[in-house]
Amino acid sequence: MEETIVAGITIFETVAAMREAVGGWHAAGEEVALVPTMGALHEGHIALVTEGRRHARRIIVSIFVNPTQFAPHEDFKKYPRTFDEDCAKLVAAGADAVFFPPVEEMYPAGFATRVLLLGPAAVGLEDRFRPTHFEGVATICCKLFTQSRADYAIFGEKDYQQLKVVTRMAEDLDLGIRVVPLATIREADGLAMSSRNRYLSAEHRALAPALHRVMQDLAARIRNEDPLFQAVADAQNEIITAGFELDYLEARHAETLAPVTALTDGPIRLLLAARIGSTRLIDNIAV
Ligand code: AMP
Repeated sequence: MEETIVAGITIFETVAAMREAVGGWHAAGEEVALVPTMGALHEGHIALVTEGRRHARRIIVSIFVNPTQFAPHEDFKKYPRTFDEDCAKLVAAGADAVFFPPVEEMYPAGFATRVLLLGPAAVGLEDRFRPTHFEGVATICCKLFTQSRADYAIFGEKDYQQLKVVTRMAEDLDLGIRVVPLATIREADGLAMSSRNRYLSAEHRALAPALHRVMQDLAARIRNEDPLFQAVADAQNEIITAGFELDYLEARHAETLAPVTALTDGPIRLLLAARIGSTRLIDNIAV
């Protein structure tokens, strides 16, 4: 089997090596959870590993900065890559293996397929600002699910629309994997942990917790039955006044992601994307 060991954890660089190991685990009656990531791991990712261990005996973490989910002007080239540190964190977290394929293993010459998405992928949130993003996410997740033959895939609510898109796809395409959600892990000041937080200057890092604070205030107003349209408009203004460029802050149905106009349309989820400097941050909370 083509595997290597880095920082005390097994690395699969090929689909064949991963499948052989999973086949062995399954033959021994052990279930497998997959945690798909792009690396630059933080406590949010580690919490996904911990959640995976609640469901399955074996955990594979994939680390792959997926080119097809980045638009040409986005940060694919400069996306943080910290592989050795990531492996050390994963050993400590109790993961069994890392799937770390080269780009050619995932997209060999001639690769010409994409997953076409409807429903939660086309509701005018992330898809409005990153029109090809979910197509890339779904394509790579579909490949990871079928490559690994894992029983569970653990995803963070941090990327809420992504979670809905991937959950829908796994069900619609009968991929034989259960998508398990995990609540967002935050810094002490409320900022959602993200690999992209390391791009923030000290000044912008100090402003960033405003996003979560404004959403919490907005959620409280909505629960108090303040008129929803006005409450959302006020919160949008607050974020812009704080110095962000706002892509969106919207109240949506928590399951379908369809627009809502009142508390009674709920359950409601607030979803936000905002830019500060050259960093784009996303977050969401339940009302
Ligand atoms: P990424 O490496 O950013 O593509 O994220 C990989 C997985 O980690 C996705 O399922 C994310 O939703 C999840 N994730 C990222 N940040 C957090 C966080 N702060 N809390 C929980 N899950 C997270």
